[in-house]
Amino acid sequence: MSRILITGGAGFIGSHVADLLVVKGHDVAVVDNLSTGRREFVPPEAQFFRYDIKSSHASELILDWRPQIIIHHAAQMSVQVSLGNPVLDAQDNILGSLNILQAATRVQVRKFIFASTGGAMYGDAAPIPAREKDTPRPESPYGIAKMAVEHYLHFYHRQHGIVPVSLRYANVYGPRQNGLGEAGVVAIFIEKFLQGQQPVINGDGLQTRDFTYVGDIAAANLLALAYPEAGTFNIGTGRETDILTIYQHLQKLTASPLGPQHGPAKPGEQRRSSLNADLARKKLGWEPQMNLEEGLAHTVAAFKHR
Ligand code: NAD
Repeated sequence: MSRILITGGAGFIGSHVADLLVVKGHDVAVVDNLSTGRREFVPPEAQFFRYDIKSSHASELILDWRPQIIIHHAAQMSVQVSLGNPVLDAQDNILGSLNILQAATRVQVRKFIFASTGGAMYGDAAPIPAREKDTPRPESPYGIAKMAVEHYLHFYHRQHGIVPVSLRYANVYGPRQNGLGEAGVVAIFIEKFLQGQQPVINGDGLQTRDFTYVGDIAAANLLALAYPEAGTFNIGTGRETDILTIYQHLQKLTASPLGPQHGPAKPGEQRRSSLNADLARKKLGWEPQMNLEEGLAHTVAAFKHR
């Protein structure tokens, strides 16, 4: 059993990772400033510290608590916010990450797992589904910051011996998600349907994403803990689903009579996205378990009970 610090562990994905690690018997601490996360998402067995990852409180905590492993999920996670405010994005996503990494080297953590992006990493020119060896061409400051941290991880690996694993998530959906993230559309549509309002589809709704269930993402983190080497892995289903299809599934699951309504397309929005996860399959033994229909049903049920 290991001492594991999870940054962003009060957030959507981080809290599912925290839940799983607690169940597996690890000693877990969470650092989160609750900017989008919620205290009640943190499992009661985990210690909680309300600190900003950019602060000396967070770095001093690492020196005191001495985690063996850090799982880094805290981030400004909105692509839209990053487009409007690249400086703010870089402060959290680059400088915040460096603050955590600097402290991590001082206590010589043996593993550093990083919540990177596949959805916002490859850009429109990459083949579908994208592989890790395809050239990243991130189209947003958010994606650029994630790519920069992956490069920093390489530096910390070479210079300081930290073993990094970057997990390039596809568009993650599931219970506890909010409308801000890369698969935010699922949460936005469910909330609208449950309030009896009609969600608006941006553009024709035929833009695609690789929707991956949060339980499968948490499982990838668990497998990454056991992986002995440094690595960068796509974590996605390889399946493209368009927004209109998501709309139709959610309309059915919420028994809404409201058919699709289209608004203007978002300028610059990526048209297609999907990740080839063969490398994660081969090296981590990861395989997505949840199919989309079932995962959406779980998500709707969780939102109803909120
Ligand atoms: P989230 O907003 O639910 O989680 C982020 C957490 O980090 C929140 O609890 C928030 O309060 C915390 N946080 C933000 N800034 C902080 C700061 N400066 N200091 C301390 N805590 C801070 O979002 P999420 O969807 O769970 O994303 C988790 C990670 O996964 C992020 O790094 C995100 O970029 C990455 N990711 C998410 C998706 C997706 O589809 N949701 C896809 C690819 C990558």
